Amino acid sequence: MVRSLRLASILLAGACALALPAAVQAQDAATVRAAETLRDSALKSNVALDFVTQVTTRFGARPAGSPAEQAAAAWSAEYLKSLGFQNVHIQEFPLVGWERGEESATLLGAHPQNLVVAALGHSIPTPAGGVEGEVVRFHTFEELQAVPDGSLAGKIVYIDAGQLIPMQDGSGYGPLTRIRGAGPAEAAKKGALAFVMRSVGSDMHRMPHTGTTRYIDGKVPLPGFALSGPDASQLSRLIDMGQTPRLRLTSTARVYETVSQNVIADVPGRTRPQEVIVLGSHLDSWDLGTGAIDDAAGGAITIAAAKAIMEHGAPARTVRVILFGSEEVAQPTNTGNGGGAYLRSLSPEQLRNHVFTGESDFGADRVYALGLPVGAQGSDFAKAASRVLYPIGVLPLADPETSGGADIGPIVQAGVPVFRLNQDGTRYFDLHHTADDTLDKIDPAQMSQNVAAWTALVWLAADSDVDFRAMRPAQPTRP
Ligand code: ZN
Ligand code: ZN
Repeated sequence: MVRSLRLASILLAGACALALPAAVQAQDAATVRAAETLRDSALKSNVALDFVTQVTTRFGARPAGSPAEQAAAAWSAEYLKSLGFQNVHIQEFPLVGWERGEESATLLGAHPQNLVVAALGHSIPTPAGGVEGEVVRFHTFEELQAVPDGSLAGKIVYIDAGQLIPMQDGSGYGPLTRIRGAGPAEAAKKGALAFVMRSVGSDMHRMPHTGTTRYIDGKVPLPGFALSGPDASQLSRLIDMGQTPRLRLTSTARVYETVSQNVIADVPGRTRPQEVIVLGSHLDSWDLGTGAIDDAAGGAITIAAAKAIMEHGAPARTVRVILFGSEEVAQPTNTGNGGGAYLRSLSPEQLRNHVFTGESDFGADRVYALGLPVGAQGSDFAKAASRVLYPIGVLPLADPETSGGADIGPIVQAGVPVFRLNQDGTRYFDLHHTADDTLDKIDPAQMSQNVAAWTALVWLAADSDVDFRAMRPAQPTRP
């Protein structure tokens, strides 16, 4: 915060006189001027709002590998062709899909109460008629790990790690997802019948946040559930009053063999088409809402940015939009889902020619910061990006970006330089993975600011020969 404020005041002081760095002045002044023009015209584009409206309205929820996800992919390919994208194709890969079915949670006793739950993605079902047991509460995953194996036979493990605190950068979410991912397997080791957790969210509505649990050693051994915030507080209050609640849980979830797919579309480069910049997002969503903020918005923003660049005239390098399939769900084997399938489709030479990548998967609220690859901080490229993005409220980060997100993760781990346009996530986890993730939650003005930031930044990299790999500090050599 302090660093950002100081940086903001430095930039404010020099805003009117931000001069182009020498290298940019010499070679790329026209590219920077075009980025500014593109930024301003992208603010008026309606492509993003059109895409997110059509996808969420025509197909609703798009669970990974479902007929709705497959149909949304086929429709998106036609949509991209109609916008003028080239080399549009669908890349299919096998997937274990998951269907929620019916589920319930009842607090038993003299006055039974229905609690609002959502089974965790890829959770196994309960036996017909459900499971019943005494609830044993933990506050952290580590607390559960600490009890002896087999000591919770016949019980229902409940982890209430508290409500997620809303943060601009969304930090706090990651550590809680460990509970969701590894909780059922850990509870099984202790002998439990089922696993329940306070859902990972910052809201207090009776809308549980689903999300995938993980396969550990190839299996999900227990039924797992997320409990809505108010219901989690209710259950914890009873325990605090000294009661030992009993729950009955039911779920008819099932897995099935299917396929998912990536939708790939290019704006071919003018002079170096073999060099590719990948703009990622994911087309699948959870089943409870219509996947507007997670993540039709990301597709909308990246498609609109690439379309604006196409309309301006092709840049030197190829700009590739990928709507990845199946980002949300874990698999019995660690295949990397859509991102892994894309990486496996590339030859070593094609991979080396992937010069830059970024992903939009954090809703549609405004972008406030830019993270660049390791070694690019303070570079001429960073200075040019600062100049172009500052007027729409985006400041460069001092720390490098190293991950990018789940979809582009596999190519980033394979060496592709990564950027991130950091979005304001303050309200993201009120809605994320709930029934409330719907189109009306998107603020068109903030989404347009995203499109402007993506258009300008991607243009700067695409219409240049900037080499982020060459900026990486040399690895220390062994003595
Ligand atoms: Zn997402
Ligand atoms: Zn998600």
